[in-house]
Amino acid sequence: MIIGILKETADNRVAIVPKTLKKFNEKDIEFQIEKGAGVLASYPDKKYEKYAKVSDRLSVLKQADILVTINPIPEQELKLIKKGAMLVAIFSPFNNAALIEQMKELELQAASLDMIPRTTIAQTMDILSSMASIAGYRAVLLAAMESPGFFPMMITAAGSIKPCKVLVLGAGVAGLQAIATARRLGAIVEAFDVRAAAKEEVESLGAKFVEVPGAIDKRDAGGYAVEQTPEFIERQQQEVQKRAASSDVVITTAQILGKKAPILLTKETVDKMKPGTIVVDLAASSGGNCELSEMDKTVIRKGVKIIGNSNLASDMPKDASFFYSNNVANYLKLIIKEGNLHLDLNNEIIDNTILTKS
Ligand code: NAD
Repeated sequence: MIIGILKETADNRVAIVPKTLKKFNEKDIEFQIEKGAGVLASYPDKKYEKYAKVSDRLSVLKQADILVTINPIPEQELKLIKKGAMLVAIFSPFNNAALIEQMKELELQAASLDMIPRTTIAQTMDILSSMASIAGYRAVLLAAMESPGFFPMMITAAGSIKPCKVLVLGAGVAGLQAIATARRLGAIVEAFDVRAAAKEEVESLGAKFVEVPGAIDKRDAGGYAVEQTPEFIERQQQEVQKRAASSDVVITTAQILGKKAPILLTKETVDKMKPGTIVVDLAASSGGNCELSEMDKTVIRKGVKIIGNSNLASDMPKDASFFYSNNVANYLKLIIKEGNLHLDLNNEIIDNTILTKS
């Protein structure tokens, strides 16, 4: 069996790093990697040469039985791939129905790693958590760089500066990493979540948990929060407004699987915020937690900067690729038995991820 690794077309990461190949030691499996695939992530071809055949893109596309990428392979290249091959990537199936249809028509198989359930048993393959953790960290660093002020308290001969106030909306994987990073930089942090269980985690990181009573507090199948009532969201928006008005940085991360992100920062709230406040909206790709967010754009309104970068992990490509690679390798080990693809749909992880199967 040939497993192909392609260079990403608009991302600095690479799906598999050399260290993973070294560990993946399975006879009957040959790895082929597109020339230069890991260069932007600081993994030059020479690091792969011992474990994989470094080849041109067309050969990898044509020969591979499994093609591993982070983002979906561009649609115009799908017809070059051999029938029955398996594509493993993040397909965001809720937003990509046409692409899935096209793969079906071309008799390609597809597994979407973002559909791995976020349960204990699947933890070692959970690419969403790996990438969210990086995004939470990068969001705070980005906010610190964009902020016109310091994060830590400063007492100097030229005067004293109070610590920065950071508000985090949604204390899941990205939110908790954002809280931890902001605390390390010396900020005072407050956080909201609809799950009461998040309180202990938030407080253990030295932040204040803000509760809005009346939340529907349960995790749906797959480890995600459930949608709240419009009445609750409205009360929450009011509570967020009070806190956001005095914050210097707001990091938003609230999400509900397969649904538009809840609006927690309204236009009216942004208008009440101080000029110079930085908002990093991690949910921008699913509509945003801020009413004014635009995906992959920075919007400035009355001095408030709202950053909608949807791929912060690409800005930290070396370690992001390392995490992704380990997650993918664990997934590949689940779907390959003795050098053959073995898709056991009785396995919850496999069943959840397979979009098309021949
Ligand atoms: P997660 O499911 O672990 O966390 C989301 C949290 O939001 C949960 O704790 C949930 O309880 C909470 N939540 C849901 N509705 C809420 C509400 N109304 N008020 C307060 N909290 C609420 O998700 P995650 O992996 O941390 O990802 C968070 C977001 O970051 C997602 O939108 C994801 O797509 C995005 N993300 C962005 C990037 C990027 O580069 N921009 C990278 C990775 C993830």
